Amino acid sequence: MKGICILGATGSIGVSTLDVVARHSSLYKVIALTANTNIDVLYEQCLEHHPEVVVVVDQHKALAFEEKLKNTPIADIKVLSGAKALEHVATLDNVDSVMAAIVGAAGLLPSLAAAKAGKTVLLANKEALVMSGAIFMQAVADSGAQLLPIDSEHNAIFQCMPAGYKTGMQEKQARRILLTASGGPFREMPVEQLINVTPAQAVAHPNWDMGRKISVDSATMMNKGLEMIEACILFDMTPDQIQVVIHPQSVIHSMVDYVDGTVLAQMGNPDMRIPIAYSMAWPERFDSGVEPLNIFDVGRMDFHEPSLERFPCLRLAYEAIATGGTMPTILNAANEIAVEAFLNEQVRFTDIPLIIERCMKKFEAKTADTLEIILDADQQARLMSTQIIGELIN
Ligand code: NAD
Ligand code: MG
Repeated sequence: MKGICILGATGSIGVSTLDVVARHSSLYKVIALTANTNIDVLYEQCLEHHPEVVVVVDQHKALAFEEKLKNTPIADIKVLSGAKALEHVATLDNVDSVMAAIVGAAGLLPSLAAAKAGKTVLLANKEALVMSGAIFMQAVADSGAQLLPIDSEHNAIFQCMPAGYKTGMQEKQARRILLTASGGPFREMPVEQLINVTPAQAVAHPNWDMGRKISVDSATMMNKGLEMIEACILFDMTPDQIQVVIHPQSVIHSMVDYVDGTVLAQMGNPDMRIPIAYSMAWPERFDSGVEPLNIFDVGRMDFHEPSLERFPCLRLAYEAIATGGTMPTILNAANEIAVEAFLNEQVRFTDIPLIIERCMKKFEAKTADTLEIILDADQQARLMSTQIIGELIN
């Protein structure tokens, strides 16, 4: 029996993780669940999974949650609040696996704490890795933690690696990664119409059902930019070894091209329970609840090269990793602020890359060798992006 802590339990990945856990209750016991503010979903999850402890980051919501638990069969659940408590529950002794599924930079410290504590880290929170790549991988190596990628593409790549492969290792016989992307909802929209795209249109992804932030990232293809950086870190490759491929059917989740010309692909229905179940059962496999792939329904598979004119965010991600140091952190922070402003209807869809690019131009990258430097760059870039947005809308 393994103990699991789910950081970001109430989100899209968190909900899918609990769905898989429920199918394997003889193998996994939920120790801790965390939420930012959504105590209604958390309450239902607590009724079903009865964790020992929960974190509700927002203090007022945490108090309301404690009230809600009173005189119920789950009144014994310990309720913590504040961001520091996330690190505490991610490192508890009876926690073996940590699902890192908080969205954005907020997930960095608890995900890193789990890595430092030598846990099996199931990493969905790509932003954490983009920000702290070298430090994160060093923490994993030092503590002997196991790092398993949840992002479907990276999970696919990991599955296509030779037996015994560990994330962070360089696989000399793999010469390239083909990183697939659906291209999002605006893959074919005339470029001049992108300016009018609404948040509702942007979050309506054709193949995947995900949180709002990553859905917008998929529409701008910043998601693929972040994933390209994530792949460089996880598989110790250079950006020129990673070819982004638009594959609108989202059946192949990525491929590895070997020196002998063999290309291995991992396929399946687009449902995050597959990579989640794979990582939870690893090195074995178990049922994920996902329907078998009907290859006849798929019928055909298409592949195209992405246009950097249509998707400037992808270009910015290549520029950020080429600059290195704190620049990927700056890219990520500016993107988080710009996406939020777009979702709040303060800026247009096409302003997102504009804000990020202006922000990146304002900073010199520093060597990202301490957490303090990274967190400072994150903070500065957030302030700068907010200022840029202010100038844009006035
Ligand atoms: P989501 O918005 O649905 O859920 C986010 C979770 O994080 C929620 O539980 C929320 O309570 C918590 N959270 C948000 N802000 C927080 C804060 N400041 N402090 C603490 N907790 C906070 O997001 P999601 O789609 O589940 O994505 C989660 C992560 O997984 C992201 O990094 C995303 O890029 C990655 N990912 C998601 C998918 C997917 O299919 N949804 C696929 C691949 C990777
Ligand atoms: Mg992905």
